[in-house]
Amino acid sequence: MMQQALNALLNEISHLKSAFVKPILRSWNVSDHLEHTFELTDDEMHLYSRQILLDGWDIEAQEKLKLANVLIVGAGGIGCTSAELLARAGVGKITIVDADTIEVSNLQRQIAFTSNDLGQYKAETLAKHLQEINPHIQVSYQNKRFDETNADELVQHQDVVLDGCDNFTTRYLVNAVCKTHQVPLISASAIGFEGQMFMVESDSACYECLFPKENQTNEGLRCAESGVLATTPVMVASLQAHHTLLFLGLGLTPLKQKLLLWNGLNLTQRILQFEKDVNCPVCQASASVN
Ligand SMILES: [Zn+2]
Repeated sequence: MMQQALNALLNEISHLKSAFVKPILRSWNVSDHLEHTFELTDDEMHLYSRQILLDGWDIEAQEKLKLANVLIVGAGGIGCTSAELLARAGVGKITIVDADTIEVSNLQRQIAFTSNDLGQYKAETLAKHLQEINPHIQVSYQNKRFDETNADELVQHQDVVLDGCDNFTTRYLVNAVCKTHQVPLISASAIGFEGQMFMVESDSACYECLFPKENQTNEGLRCAESGVLATTPVMVASLQAHHTLLFLGLGLTPLKQKLLLWNGLNLTQRILQFEKDVNCPVCQASASVN
C-alpha cells in the first residue's frame, strides 16, 4: 500500500516537473543533448524518492544535485564518508584526488576500504566503491597528491570543493586555489575526539584569514601522530556532506565564514563567526584577480 502511494506520488511529481531546470550554481551553455541528460530517469526518481518526498526538497533540488560537480580532496577518514553520502544522495559528478595507498591502520575509520584493498590506491578504490553504490553518477579520480601541478585544473570547473586532507600544506593550497577560482570550499578535519568544519564562499573570509600561515606551527599534528577515534572523522564528514547537500540543492550556506567545532567527549558543538583579515594574502590576491 505504501509502495502504491509512493508510486502514485512519484508519477504525479514526474508530470509536474519542469522540462528544463536552470542551474543556479554557475552558468552553463546547455545543449539540447544535455538538456535531456540531467532530467531524472524513473530509476533515479525511485532511488532518490525519500529525498524528493521531503518537505523543502523537491525534484528541482534533486536535479541540481545531478548537475553538480564536486571535488573531494583526500580519500581518508573524512573523504570516504562524505564521498559515499554524496554518491548515495545523487551528486552527479564526483572527482577524488589522493596519492596514498591503503594501509591496515586506515581500516579503523576509512569506511570505504576492507582488508582486501590493502596496498591499493585510496582514490581509485573509493571511486570504484562509489560507482557500485550508485551507477547513475559519474566518478573520476586521480591517484596523485593535490599540489600546484594539478590544483587549478582540478578546482576550476567544480561547483564545490570538499577538503578532507590530512595536512596543513594541502589545506592552505586548497583554500588559495578555491579562492582564486571563486569555487566554494567546505573543509572538514578531525583529530582525536574533535572535529572542525567551515565554509569559504565568494567574498567571505578564508581559511588563511582564520589561521594565518605564519602562526601555523603544528604541521605534524595528523592522525598518524596523535590518534583519532573511529567515529570522529565519520561524524564531521557527515556534517560536511550534509552542508554540501544543503548548498547544492537549496543554495544554503549556514557555515559561510563560520567555524564549527565539534567536541566528541561531551558531544557539544560550537559555531564561531570569523572575520576577514585585511592582511590575508589569499584574499588580497583573489580580490585583484576577480
Ligand atoms: Zn583570507
